[in-house]
Amino acid sequence: MSGLYGGIETGGTTCVCALATDAGEVVARSEVPTTDPDATLGRIVTFFREHELPRAIGIGSFGPIDLDIDSPTWGHVTTTPKLQWRNAAVAPRIRDALGVPVSFDHDVAAAAYGEYTWGAGQGLASVAYLTVGTGIGVGLVIGGSVWYGTLQPEVGHIRLPRVAGDAYEGSCPSHGDCWEGLACGPALAARYGCDPAQLPDGHPAWELEAEYIAAGILAIALVVSPHRLILGGGIGRRQRVLELVHRRLRELFNGYLQSPLFGPEIDSYLVTPQLGADAGVLGAVALARDGRGRVPRPAV
Ligand code: ZN
Repeated sequence: MSGLYGGIETGGTTCVCALATDAGEVVARSEVPTTDPDATLGRIVTFFREHELPRAIGIGSFGPIDLDIDSPTWGHVTTTPKLQWRNAAVAPRIRDALGVPVSFDHDVAAAAYGEYTWGAGQGLASVAYLTVGTGIGVGLVIGGSVWYGTLQPEVGHIRLPRVAGDAYEGSCPSHGDCWEGLACGPALAARYGCDPAQLPDGHPAWELEAEYIAAGILAIALVVSPHRLILGGGIGRRQRVLELVHRRLRELFNGYLQSPLFGPEIDSYLVTPQLGADAGVLGAVALARDGRGRVPRPAV
């Protein structure tokens, strides 16, 4: 047993695994393609066996997932549209294969906890981590703990004012034109007929995208009022998007909130992840180090 901790972030196309010190210094890292659970989890187990067995492992998983430690299906992916992963016992299989404690949480909650621990949210009483990419989701760390209510926040599915002239019906299978349905990566791909990463900075897609991202962030800022908002995900980390969202947010706040953070200092309030694309896997390491994500949930 080493003094290292393990982190795993499972994603739709790739899983990232890492071994790190208790200060978050990565000593080994690997990416594994997300295929079927047997092959993918098998390769992750092999990664840890070939390096060092960590003291504990954290997993930040795509959802939906079962977080109830008293549930017989704790640590499973549940009703995902990725059919091969439906009911996959992700956390129990990693725990049983390696014989170490496993913390389990959402990918976006792990990213929020990573930024809180080692990134742009250090020392703050509350942090919101918003991802805009394949989906739209938020992780909240409040008072040092990942926040849950009855379930996890699902801010990606709120309704927003539709931008005038935008006739796209939306991509969400449950709601059509909710925030995620209008502004996630697949929605952009469907609107413009290409991978959004290929759209140049001057493309009008980004003005539209920034309008929807700013409208959703306005709601998060007004409801939760986190001390800092971190914008991640493949689309959210794009510099052009950040600049446009800053500009639009200043207009939307319109001087209403009595703090320069919501006006001239908006660029220090809404920031991109200090840990970059590794916020999730490092957050998983931090969850493992701190023993989070495996305590009984309070009764509701
Ligand atoms: Zn929806």
